[in-house]
Amino acid sequence: MQTEPSSPAGFTERVVPFLAGDGRSLNLLHVRGEQEPSKGPVVLIHGAGVRANIFRAPVSRTLVDALIEDGYDVWLENWRASIDLEPNEWTLDQAAVHDHPKAIQTIVRETGHDEVKAIIHCQGSTSFMLSAVAGLVPQVRLIISNAVSLHPVVSRSARMKARYAVPVVSRLTPYLDPQWGLKAKGLTARAITLLVKATHHECKNTVCRLASFTYGTGFPTLWQHENLNPETHEWLKHEFAKVPLTFFQQMAECLRAGHLVPVEGYRELPEDIAERPPETDARFVFLAGELNHCFLPESQRRTYEQLSQRRPGYHALHVIPDYGHLDIFMGKEAARDVFPLILAELDKPV
Ligand SMILES: [Zn+2]
Repeated sequence: MQTEPSSPAGFTERVVPFLAGDGRSLNLLHVRGEQEPSKGPVVLIHGAGVRANIFRAPVSRTLVDALIEDGYDVWLENWRASIDLEPNEWTLDQAAVHDHPKAIQTIVRETGHDEVKAIIHCQGSTSFMLSAVAGLVPQVRLIISNAVSLHPVVSRSARMKARYAVPVVSRLTPYLDPQWGLKAKGLTARAITLLVKATHHECKNTVCRLASFTYGTGFPTLWQHENLNPETHEWLKHEFAKVPLTFFQQMAECLRAGHLVPVEGYRELPEDIAERPPETDARFVFLAGELNHCFLPESQRRTYEQLSQRRPGYHALHVIPDYGHLDIFMGKEAARDVFPLILAELDKPV
């Protein structure tokens, strides 16, 4: 464990390693402000092919800043999809069963608090939702999910791509990697990069264009360009790397089924896990960018409605106008447009 200054705001961070249930080495970043936290721990969980740092874009106020200033004790989980760790052919099941429960146990042990709040994004969200509804993270009573949770819904073109392109690409490469935009090694990497350059004209940042290709069919897919400052658009070149085809294969099955489908056969995750009554009394808050071109806002609406049928008036859904997928967190005005909503939901009693 090391402690070192990590931001101009005078925050310090330390890396807290932990082992997943199957022995894989993962870690948590614990970011502290100058003051002792006055509130309990909050964990932030990143999506596929990025890392914990995705919540710390070069904007004037990140979500981490906002949470610390509001008194929270902030933890960022590098689960097995993190590009800070060894690339591996992960599935949502592995993360749900092996990673998130151990991360939460580690935070409980380190802080002495027996409750943790969670802010979960994209595949950090789908996998954590599986943990939650399977009853594997009972210490988490409030979960704020962005983009997608139990019911992934994408555009027709993205559905076709998942159905027809994923099996073909799976035979050519075990990983897609937006870093090919900086350096494409090998025939498949060069061919895909050329294809993306020929078809994506929305900006000159090849990593940005490859990220759009990797995660959907938008131009771009993961943000509205106008919501990013130029520094963030440059910074993201180093925040996207390898994502395994095992994930896209699982997602293709989920899209066909209309809800998350476990693929590993773990006893903790029965086949109908996404449809059966959740084994948790956590309150869920669903966020969806109205302009999300990766997962349509309908994704979050479906999970919200399913959970609300079982417990009316308990959960919340916020569709945020003018925002897409990741600009919810890294948009230059997210501190004004999105974070107050998150802070207000965190403060509500469960
Ligand atoms: Zn771009």
